[in-house]
Amino acid sequence: MLDKAQAIHDQLIAWRREIHMHPELGFQEKGTGRLVANTLSDLGMEVQTGVAKTGVVAYLGEGHPVVAIRADMDALPIQETNDVSYASQTPGVMHACGHDAHTAMLLGVAQLLSTMPDRPAGQVRFLFQPSEEWSDDENKSGGKRMVEEGALEGLDAVIALHVASELPAGKIMIESGYVTAAEDSFYITITGTGGHGAYPHQGTDPTFMLAQVINAIYGIRARRIDPISPATISIGSIHGGSATNVIPSQIEVTGTIRSYDEETRSRLKDELAQALQVARALGGDFILSFKPGYPATYNDPAVHELIRQTATEILGADSLLPPHRGMGAEDFSYMAQKAPGAMFMLGAKYDEQNRPHHTPVFNISEEALPVGTAMLAELTCRLLKQKAA
Ligand SMILES: [Zn+2]
Ligand SMILES: [Zn+2]
Repeated sequence: MLDKAQAIHDQLIAWRREIHMHPELGFQEKGTGRLVANTLSDLGMEVQTGVAKTGVVAYLGEGHPVVAIRADMDALPIQETNDVSYASQTPGVMHACGHDAHTAMLLGVAQLLSTMPDRPAGQVRFLFQPSEEWSDDENKSGGKRMVEEGALEGLDAVIALHVASELPAGKIMIESGYVTAAEDSFYITITGTGGHGAYPHQGTDPTFMLAQVINAIYGIRARRIDPISPATISIGSIHGGSATNVIPSQIEVTGTIRSYDEETRSRLKDELAQALQVARALGGDFILSFKPGYPATYNDPAVHELIRQTATEILGADSLLPPHRGMGAEDFSYMAQKAPGAMFMLGAKYDEQNRPHHTPVFNISEEALPVGTAMLAELTCRLLKQKAA
């Protein structure tokens, strides 16, 4: 399978660069979706467009079992600074997370599997989802909408990969169980009376309250959560006041909480409310609200094992990197809730420079493209056989 993927390396690069040059933000992936749909139709596949607004779903084969592969298509509101021939041609928009590579690799998988005479029986479902990075007005991302619209019904397994710009090109990293965090945003308003800066004793000061509240919030991870459970809280913004001599009457604070399991997730929320009681003790008050983000991604242990086995067999024993979990969030989590699934990381380090995801200098090594394509195609075949048994 690796040889077959190497044979279409130029095509994979061409797709990736075409998409990279024309990045589109979440739920606006019209051009990308068109390229995907046309390519899949040319391969003779049944194609459905407009899924989850701008997503594309394609079907290869029929009957059981059904194995789905997912790629995300959206870019980010970042101005690319890389000096490469295929740099973004859209000002202020850039594929800075590698979703261009994900889309190109999944097209490659479609090409390999649709032209494979001895493909195992069953159906392969190709999920090209919009908007992984962004949730719309109804707080729904592309993955969540795809699940709601039924694109994940009747699956026996679902797999995906994510490139990693910090890991050596072509290497695989995967961990079992929870691998990305559940994310919740929080919004706090702390209120007091405010007043004249020269006479603080005549009123109540939300700035002073917030100072104590922050200590309490950052004590939650250390003192109120099981040290064994992954969890973190970060304040991301603080806004209040408008003059040097006026004590404001309210301060706005926002931030994010991350966790793996549901128990810790709800505990963090309760403890946050508890920490805010400090404002009341100091004569003020608060309003606290949450916006739920993506749940944690759970890698099914059996699928995880199959991915390790496949990497060892087709790429070699030294292709596997030591496993590592993260506190980032991924909306593949919604899909992995619908069927046993797993997402693995594909190393794609471009050069010696640090090129983090979501930055203007992000880039990936295109040497990783055939590796990811071969892995997804081979895994799909193995899952079809395994699930048929
Ligand atoms: Zn991203
Ligand atoms: Zn991403």
